[in-house]
Parts: sequence; structure tokens; C-alpha cells
Amino acid sequence: MNAPLRLNASALAAQDGDTAPLRGEWTCLECGAPYEAAARHSGFCSTACRQAWNNRCLQGGAEVYDLFMALRFQRPHARALKLLSALNRLALLYREEDRRERAGRPSWRAPEAVLAARPFLRAVRLSARRP
Ligand SMILES: [Zn+2]
Repeated sequence: MNAPLRLNASALAAQDGDTAPLRGEWTCLECGAPYEAAARHSGFCSTACRQAWNNRCLQGGAEVYDLFMALRFQRPHARALKLLSALNRLALLYREEDRRERAGRPSWRAPEAVLAARPFLRAVRLSARRP
């Protein structure tokens, strides 16, 4: 059974552009150590932690990207290859790695932070209706 995700308040606030103060004590997203933030949204206690986080995201993203794009735009092919199951297995492997190597800290940002950084993702496309 999966344990619930636990993000401490400072980690969540560090990712929240609307409520995070300019300075404060935060928890590093990568190593979990407390640190004094010099600037809003730093998220990390050191350059090494930021690079480790970004490298893991790049590697995971590269694995997920091709499968997700095929799932979205080549549906019959994706269905035949059971790509959704493959993506779910990848997510499970990433989560197991978080538990094993990151003391359970999640290896992904809060979705609210991702959406806040990309407001166009919430935009509604308006198109002319056909008569
Ligand atoms: Zn750190």
C-alpha cells in the first residue's frame, strides 16, 4: 500500500508563488535539509542539489515524453503497446526510488507550482462554432 505524500509546509510554500515570503527557512526539495532562502523559489540548499534535481527530472522526462506523446497522438498504436500501463509502471519505479533513495520525499514539484509557472495550461481555447 502506498504511503500518502508528505510535503512540509515550507516545501509547499517554497513552490507557491502567491504565498511564499521573500525570505525564510525552507526545506530543500532534493536533500530535505533546512536552509535559509536568499530568494523566493530557490527550492534548493545548494547548486549541487538543484543540479541533481534537474538531472533526475531530465532523465525521467525523457523517458516519459515519448511514451506520453504516443499515448496522446497515436492512440491505436499506444493502446496496442499498452503504453498507459508502461507509464504507470515507470511512475511506480520512480516512486519506489523516492522511498529507497530519498527517504520518501517526492521527486516531483507540486502540480499547483507547475501550473502557476505555466498559466497558459489553464487557458480555455475559444473557437468559432460552426453553424
Ligand atoms: Zn539540498
